[in-house]
Amino acid sequence: MDYKKYISVVDDFPLKGIRFKDITTLMQDGEAYAKAVDDIADYAKDLNIDVIVGPEARGFIVGCPVAYKLGLGFVPVRKDGKLPREVVKVSYGLEYGKDVLTMHKDSIKPGQRVLITDDLLATGGTIGATIQLVEELGGVVAGIAFMIELTYLDGREKLSGYDIFTLTQY
Ligand code: IMP
Repeated sequence: MDYKKYISVVDDFPLKGIRFKDITTLMQDGEAYAKAVDDIADYAKDLNIDVIVGPEARGFIVGCPVAYKLGLGFVPVRKDGKLPREVVKVSYGLEYGKDVLTMHKDSIKPGQRVLITDDLLATGGTIGATIQLVEELGGVVAGIAFMIELTYLDGREKLSGYDIFTLTQY
């Protein structure tokens, strides 16, 4: 499928000079959204995945339907202060400042094989932090799937050594 036909590119959002890739138009189209989920599930089905992990909020939009399709559980990665039970935390650098991501401590068992999902790979910072959380709990990152890859930001290099799948690239 030509996914670019369904993704909107919005100039100067959220800041001047940024060309924001908006997946809401893809999600609005039942056929395109289903195909995106099917393609990611196809990628994951031979990786012996035990559980899917995705960061809020768009990692849920990608990961939850794939988890349902494969009959797997889904573990949310959330900003600090959102999860009610004991968490592991990681602090990571943003373009301006820092942010903290958290995951429930009992959400992954040592040795479990994990598929990480998100909408878009830019610099790889968000998913780098998510990998740290999964590995701190003893999980094995078996694959990482995104709808979109911005190849000019070299996120793939930052995540080198991991298996990465993307539906479309800019
Ligand atoms: P990274 O951490 O630099 O790889 O940035 C990826 C994160 O920022 C993802 O969680 C995306 O949801 C978000 N993001 C960055 N650029 C865009 C964009 O153009 N469209 C949608 N989300 C974006």
